Amino acid sequence: MGVVDHSQKKKQENINMLEKMANHEQVMFCNDPKTGLQAIIAIHDTTLGPALGGARMYPYETMDDALEDALRLSEGMTYKCAAADIDFGGGKAVIIGDPEKDKSPALFRSFGQFVDSLNGRFYTGTDMGTTMDDFVQASKETNFITGIPEAYGGGGDSSIPTAQGVIYGLQATNQYLFGEDRLENRSYAIQGLGKVGYKVAEHLLKLGATLFINDVDKGILEDFKNNAVGYGGSVEVVDKEEIYNTDADIFIPCAMGGVINDQTIPQLKVKAIVGSANNQLYDTKHAELLDEKNILYAPDYIVNAGGLIQVSDELYEPNKERVLLKTKAIYHSLLEIYQQSKLDCISTIEAANRKCQARIKEQQNRNNYFNRKRSPKWDIRE
Ligand code: NAD
Repeated sequence: MGVVDHSQKKKQENINMLEKMANHEQVMFCNDPKTGLQAIIAIHDTTLGPALGGARMYPYETMDDALEDALRLSEGMTYKCAAADIDFGGGKAVIIGDPEKDKSPALFRSFGQFVDSLNGRFYTGTDMGTTMDDFVQASKETNFITGIPEAYGGGGDSSIPTAQGVIYGLQATNQYLFGEDRLENRSYAIQGLGKVGYKVAEHLLKLGATLFINDVDKGILEDFKNNAVGYGGSVEVVDKEEIYNTDADIFIPCAMGGVINDQTIPQLKVKAIVGSANNQLYDTKHAELLDEKNILYAPDYIVNAGGLIQVSDELYEPNKERVLLKTKAIYHSLLEIYQQSKLDCISTIEAANRKCQARIKEQQNRNNYFNRKRSPKWDIRE
C-alpha cells in the first residue's frame, strides 16, 4: 500500500492556487473571527487606475469556489472599466456567507477596515447579495466605498443609468441594422422586469413600441400592465420559455446570465440581442453560433456600463448630468464595435475585448512616459 505524501500534496495545492492568481496583481484573504467575516479581495489590473468592483455575498461551498469567482469577476471588471472609458482598474470582493442569515453591521464594518487597509488600491460597493445599507456600515470605516444612497452623499439608484445605457444600446443597434436610431417602430422581447428591465420597458412603451414581456414574478407583470394603460404602444405577456421565440426584432435580457445557450439559440428569431444581464453568453462559442444565425450581439459589458459609470463618477462627487453624458458614449462605442467586428470578420465580443486591450496597452505606454506624477489619478478620496 502506497504512503500518501501530505507535504507534497499541500505544496501542489499551493502551487495550483498561485497559478490561478498568476494574472492578478494582488489577492487579499480577510478573516475576522469576531464578526464572522471571511472574504477575498482580488485586484486584477490597475493600469487604468485604482481597482473598482462590487462586493458579492454568497454561501460558497469551498474557499476555492470563492477564490475562482473573485478572480474571474475582477478580471471582467478590468474590461468593463476599460470599455466604459473610466480611469479605474479591475477588482472584486467576495464575502463568504448567506446574505439572508449571516449579515450584521459589524461584519460590514470589519470588511470596511480590510478595504481601508488597501489604502485606495480598491474601491467597492454593492453587488449580488449586498445592499447600499451594508455599505453605509462599511463607509463608517473607510472612504473607499461607492454606490451609497443619496442621503449619505452617494449617487443613489444605479439602475437608472444602467437602463439609460440599454436605451442607448438599442438606439445604436437600430441605427446599425435599420439605418435609423428611432426606437418606436420596432418590437422588443424583454426578459425580466426588475430594476433595469422595468425602466427600459416603460421607456419603450411610452414611445409607442411593441413589447413582449416576461418575468417569473407575476406581481411585477400585473403592476407593469396596470401602469402601462394609456402609454401608447402595445404589450403582450408571454410564457417564460416563449420569450425566446417571439416575433420581436430585438431580445432584451434583463434577468440573469447564461441565457444565450445551446437550447435558446435555435429558438431565437430576433435580429439582435441588447440587454443588461451580466454574462449573457453561456460560453464564448455562442458568440459564433449567433453570428451563424445572423443575430447581432451587443456585448453585455458595453451595454450595461451605466451603473458602473455612476459609481465611479460618484467618487468625484455625485453629478447626474455628467453620468448621463458619460453613459451616452455607449451609443458610439457600440456602433464602433459593430463596425469593427464586420471589418475584421470577428464576433462583436471579440471586437469589444480587443478595444479594451488596446486601451490598457495605450495607458501602459502613457504611464511610462509620464512617470513624474501618477497618471491616471489615484488620489481620489485619500
Ligand atoms: P433585479 O433583480 O431587480 O431584476 C431581475 C428581474 O428578473 C426580477 O424581476 C426577477 O423576477 C426576474 N427574473 C429572474 N429570473 C427570471 C427568468 N428566468 N425569467 C424571467 N424573469 C426572471 O435586477 P436588475 O438590477 O434589474 O438587473 C437585471 C440584470 O442586469 C442582472 O443580470 C444584473 O446583474 C444586470 N445588471 C444590473 C445593473 C444595475 O445597475 N442594476 C448593472 C449592470 C448589470
